[in-house]
Amino acid sequence: MAAKKSRGNNQVYMPDYRGDLVYSCIGCSAEYPIDEFHYTCPSCGSLLRLHDRSFDELKKIEGPQWRKIFDRRRMSSEAALSGIFLFHELIMPLVPPEDVIYLGEGHTPMIGANDDLAGWLGAPFYIKNDGQNPSASFKDRGMASAISYLNHIIKTRNLDEVLGICASTGDTSAAAALYLSYLPKGRVKSVVLLPQGKVTPQQLSQPLGSGATVIELPGVFDDCMRVVEELSENYEVFLLNSKNPVRINGQKSYAYEVAQQLNWQTSDLVVVVPIGNAGNITAVMEGFLDLYRLGIIDQLPTVVGVQSDHADPVYRWSMTGSYQPVTVTSSVAQAAMIGDPVSFPKVRKLVEENFKSRFFMIRVTEQEIMEGMLTANRHGHVVCTQGGESVAGLKKAVALGVVEPENTLVVDSTSHQLKFAEFQRMYFEDTFPAEYEVKTRDSLKNTPVAMEGKAEAVAEFLQLRRKDQG
Ligand SMILES: *Cc1c(COP(=O)(O)O)cnc(C)c1O
Ligand SMILES: [Zn+2]
Repeated sequence: MAAKKSRGNNQVYMPDYRGDLVYSCIGCSAEYPIDEFHYTCPSCGSLLRLHDRSFDELKKIEGPQWRKIFDRRRMSSEAALSGIFLFHELIMPLVPPEDVIYLGEGHTPMIGANDDLAGWLGAPFYIKNDGQNPSASFKDRGMASAISYLNHIIKTRNLDEVLGICASTGDTSAAAALYLSYLPKGRVKSVVLLPQGKVTPQQLSQPLGSGATVIELPGVFDDCMRVVEELSENYEVFLLNSKNPVRINGQKSYAYEVAQQLNWQTSDLVVVVPIGNAGNITAVMEGFLDLYRLGIIDQLPTVVGVQSDHADPVYRWSMTGSYQPVTVTSSVAQAAMIGDPVSFPKVRKLVEENFKSRFFMIRVTEQEIMEGMLTANRHGHVVCTQGGESVAGLKKAVALGVVEPENTLVVDSTSHQLKFAEFQRMYFEDTFPAEYEVKTRDSLKNTPVAMEGKAEAVAEFLQLRRKDQG
């Protein structure tokens, strides 16, 4: 299953398990073959998940042995095992190692807060920085699995005209365009749909730089999503939104890595995740479930989802028990500014069936998000606005007693701070448009100071003390 191969002194556990993956409908349980492209159930329209019908085979290897295999692979220099496919059997086992596309994704650092930051938040915690992925967000995890799978299908079915397409709040398109650009140009084209003016300049520059066709549509993300859904239902395209369950499978790697970085000790673990389209939190829950089912971890973690009060449909559902899409208003956590999350039905099912007493929602203000981001970044981290949302959410969860300060607390910072530099600038200059409801607090402000190009002037400004002239 995980064959032992000798390479010099290094033993590499190359995966030879291929599984028996099918699409499985979360509504009517119908199954569809994996070598077709499906995004929703052709018979009832519900979301699909990937189901490995031979998953029980994997149980023949016991938990401690799996840990050893995964820990061994971390030392390997095989490209196919260097990213998310280190967890090959749990990602897309049907893709053989030679078809894996690895662009440097995964294995992002998990950094402990220093005492000052922990004191501010109310408990010690870690930030796992998924901004340190190739296109600078966690979306690369899902793209690595989706594009590896596409690469495999293109070869095995000898396809020569594939159009990869997605709607995006910015980061999905950056990741999709990057990974698609690695595939042969003659066979694969890449198109992204963005809400005009609702992605940052940095995020817009990314798919343009990767050579994708960039289409701007009026409205917000939800409007782009409707268009791309119609396209994927009626035309021959490969949908790269997280509605495509192949993406979710790649994003499960976040959970596997957290467990591995904690030496597989998850008994008092709490993971805090910002929610937009709800693909990420779905993947995090599914990932921990895999590990639990294989005996790799002893206990499921608590999962805390965080939303802004400007885009809070999942929070409202958790409070009232009834789900209604909301109309979003401007949010600094722009990548999570989604009023009708596509993967919500998966979240509801996972919570009801597996995470009932282990799932909480926290809602934060735009002000809290900005201050979460700026405060983390002032203490050695590189956190985006969505990461700031997670940090603010954890602070609130600790204050409300939803989680205990003694828990092992991990915050997901989902992308790189530089993508959201505009929001920092607006904060420092106190120029947020009113609809954001963000006011600058002087203690967090920072602006450049211009002065004469003379050491004396700088010294005077800094009130430097002269060295003793001895
Ligand atoms: C996509 C994205 C999110 C939201 O993730 P979902 O899977 O849509 O819930 C959060 N933060 C960043 C930076 C993102 O790119
Ligand atoms: Zn169905």
